[in-house]
Amino acid sequence: MAEFDCIVIGGGPAGLSAAIYLARFHLSVAVFDDGRSRAALIPLTRNLAGFPVGVGGRDLLRRMRVQAEGFGARMRADTVEGLAPQDGGFALTAGDRHWRASRVLLATGVINLAPKMKPDAHDDALRCGLLRYCPVCDGHEVTDRRVALLGSGPHGLAEAQFMRSFSRDVSLVAPSGPHGFDESRRAALAEWGIAAIDGPVDAIVAGRDDIALQVAGETHCFDTLYAALGTALRSELARAAGAQTAPDGAVLVDRHQMTSVEGLYAAGDVVKGLDQIATAMGQAAIAATAMRNAICAERPLRR
Ligand SMILES: Cc1cc2nc3c(=O)[nH]c(=O)nc-3n(C[C@H](O)[C@H](O)[C@H](O)COP(=O)(O)OP(=O)(O)OC[C@H]3O[C@@H](n4cnc5c(N)ncnc54)[C@H](O)[C@@H]3O)c2cc1C
Repeated sequence: MAEFDCIVIGGGPAGLSAAIYLARFHLSVAVFDDGRSRAALIPLTRNLAGFPVGVGGRDLLRRMRVQAEGFGARMRADTVEGLAPQDGGFALTAGDRHWRASRVLLATGVINLAPKMKPDAHDDALRCGLLRYCPVCDGHEVTDRRVALLGSGPHGLAEAQFMRSFSRDVSLVAPSGPHGFDESRRAALAEWGIAAIDGPVDAIVAGRDDIALQVAGETHCFDTLYAALGTALRSELARAAGAQTAPDGAVLVDRHQMTSVEGLYAAGDVVKGLDQIATAMGQAAIAATAMRNAICAERPLRR
C-alpha cells in the first residue's frame, strides 16, 4: 500500500493548485483525477488574471499538471471510490487498490446539469459559444446579444436579472413546463424587461450563428443560450468520510478550508462559493498551507 503525506482528490484548478503548493513544501503528494474537470469544458477563459488574450481550459490544466509534476507531485488517472479516517490519517480505495495519506484534500468539483441535446451537438455548441453555463465567467462576451436562459424558479429569475447587466434582450425559458411564477415574480420580470417563455422545450438546435429553441410549435432564436439548470456536487466522498455538508451538498469548511473531519480539507466548486477558477486556486492555496502547517507541527520535514 503506497503512503503519501497528502492526497488530493480531483485534478482541476483547485486540486492542481494545491498539488503545486504541497510539492513545493517538500511534501509527498499524489493527485487522483477521473478526468471530468469543468475547466476542461472552457473554450477560452478571459477573466483569469495574467492571460490578457484568454486561455483554453485544457491548456490551463495541462500547464498546471506540468508545473505540479515538475515539483514532484504524482498524477493518477483513477476514480477514488472509498475514503475513511484511519489511525490518525486516511485510507483511500480505487478499485481493489489502497493508499494511505496523513492529510487529504477534496477538490472534486461539481457537474453542470446539461440541457437535453445529443452529446456531440452539445459539445459543438459549447465550443463555439452558442451554449454557455456561467454568466459570471463569460457574460461579457454576450454583451448586447440576444440571450436566453434555460431555467425557472428563483434561481432562474436571479440568473436572468444578473444577465440584464450584459444585455437588454434577455429571455427566461422554462425547460419542462410553465414557469408557474406568482404575481410578484411576474411583476419583477416585467420590471426588469425579461421575457418569460413557458416550456416545455421540445428541441434545442444549434445553427451556424444562432441557437433555436422549439417551444409549443414556435421557434425562438438567440445568439446564446445559458443553461441555468443547476449542478450536482461531487461531495459523496466527503459524506462517506463523515464530513458535514450543506443541504445543497456543498462541503462545509472552516477558514483554513478544513472540513468537520480533522485532517480532511476541501477546496473549489465542491465548497460553497463563487465557482470560479480564481476562487478555486485561492482556496487551494489556503488549504495546502494549512495541511503543511499541520504536518510540520508533528515532525520536521528535512532530515
Ligand atoms: C463551460 C464553462 C465555462 C467556464 N468558464 C469559466 C471562466 O471563464 N472563468 C472561471 O473562472 N471559471 C469558469 N468556469 C468554472 C470553472 O471551470 C470551475 O470553477 C473550476 O473548474 C473549478 O475547479 P475545481 O478544481 O473545483 O473543479 P473541477 O475543475 O471540476 O475539477 C474537479 C475534478 O475532480 C475530479 N473528481 C471528482 N470526483 C473524483 C473522484 N472520486 N476521484 C477522482 N477524481 C474525481 C473530476 O473528474 C474533476 O477532474 C466555467 C465552467 C464551465 C462549465
